[in-house]
Amino acid sequence: MTEKAKRTEELALTETGIVEKPESIADLVRRMIHLIGEDPERDGLRHTPERFEKALRFLTSGYHQDPEKLLNGAMFSVCYDQMVLVKDIEIYSLCEHHMLPFFGKCHVAYIPDKKVVGLSKIPQRLTNQIASAIQQKICPLGVGVVVEARHLCMVMRGVEKQNSQTVTSAMLGAFRENVQTREEFLSLIRDK
Ligand SMILES: [Zn+2]
Repeated sequence: MTEKAKRTEELALTETGIVEKPESIADLVRRMIHLIGEDPERDGLRHTPERFEKALRFLTSGYHQDPEKLLNGAMFSVCYDQMVLVKDIEIYSLCEHHMLPFFGKCHVAYIPDKKVVGLSKIPQRLTNQIASAIQQKICPLGVGVVVEARHLCMVMRGVEKQNSQTVTSAMLGAFRENVQTREEFLSLIRDK
């Protein structure tokens, strides 16, 4: 908030005679608990709003990370032009439709053109974002990203069978244009 907006807000508050601190996520959660018919003041729930806010801030902290910086710290130059594959990167995140958790595995492959990148540092950038971040950063001949995840918004509401997974993928360059490359990647991640 700008200084000016802050002052305007403070003024508005003093004019109505109500001095309240600005609404926090925890305040909203307290209200939400009330709206679903629970008592936010009862023992078990008393500190839940603050805990929820803390957890939500942690789970969305990836929004403030700069993929550029993460990738810069993990780049190497090589003379190597075979497919580089990193399988089974564990991912946890919140879906944007329901803000409920989804979790699973991410597989990333690319065919380097002089540069490779360490992938341990990009845990939460998903499919398209991962693919285009790698594409921009090391200009490989192609990138393939597959995310297999279980979305609790579907599993818990019975939209999906208990053990089914949602698979999303992004293919760029050689992985998009060359069926053989794509098949090689897909068969490599199928081998468990
Ligand atoms: Zn969802």
